[in-house]
Amino acid sequence: METMASEHLLDIRQLAKSFGKHQVLKAVDLHVSKGEVVTVIGPSGSGKTTLLRCVNFLETYDGGSIRIDGTEVGYRNDGPQRRRRGEVDLARMRAETGMVFQSFNLFPHLTAAENVMLGLRRVRKKPKREAREIALHWLGRVGLGHKADSLPGELSGGQQQRVGIARAVAMEPKILLLDEITSALDPELVGEVLDVVRQLAGDGMTMLMVTHEIAFARDASHRIVFMADGMVSAVVPPDQLQAAAAENDRLRSFLSRFS
Ligand code: ADP
Repeated sequence: METMASEHLLDIRQLAKSFGKHQVLKAVDLHVSKGEVVTVIGPSGSGKTTLLRCVNFLETYDGGSIRIDGTEVGYRNDGPQRRRRGEVDLARMRAETGMVFQSFNLFPHLTAAENVMLGLRRVRKKPKREAREIALHWLGRVGLGHKADSLPGELSGGQQQRVGIARAVAMEPKILLLDEITSALDPELVGEVLDVVRQLAGDGMTMLMVTHEIAFARDASHRIVFMADGMVSAVVPPDQLQAAAAENDRLRSFLSRFS
């Protein structure tokens, strides 16, 4: 396991990734400090989801590095790097990065509490009683204490997504990765999910999120990263987004779709 001091909790350097001949990520540099909320925006196909998936070991990458707290994570495609990955405890490393997806990915035959308990039992090796206590705590935090014993099919989309968030944070990840978590929701259910994210941000949770909710990104992020064509095109504090757009044609054209 390779470690290297870094002031950033998540430190992505020169990340490169191709699917066949299509280079989807071209030397992406991005970092997130502890307690920081960084939001990635950009046109569809610009590589946002692939970036998050590389951090969470769901996709291999071809070049560059990804470090969390100085420890390399993810799967790099070349031989020596890949062998080194084999030395890390994959489940444990993955648990450092909680990921919430657009599709809720809950097990339909398990209750809300059981869905949250699964990783606590299998990865964190918590006894059943303790796992349930932790699950109930987090379900309470996302406003679903009263739905702990409901099946996903009995919950609204917004409630299911809140279970998904509870499941991720219950593992106490160092960083939470949120991939367009409101995109599959009816508009009237978006607010309740964003409220939970806002609350987690207020509690100091470190987050890297991809969203199409530009207003929310401005409101809840410390920094906004604009990606275009597999590259980081701009990195700005939310209040400087408009000013940056004045000098960045692609950002201006992207933002004009939301106004
Ligand atoms: P975004 O999240 O910004 O919409 P993605 O990361 O999903 O972008 O996709 C970036 C590009 O990579 C797109 O052109 C997409 O079609 C392509 N891509 C994503 N996943 C795969 C895959 N598994 N195989 C081939 N191409 C893919």
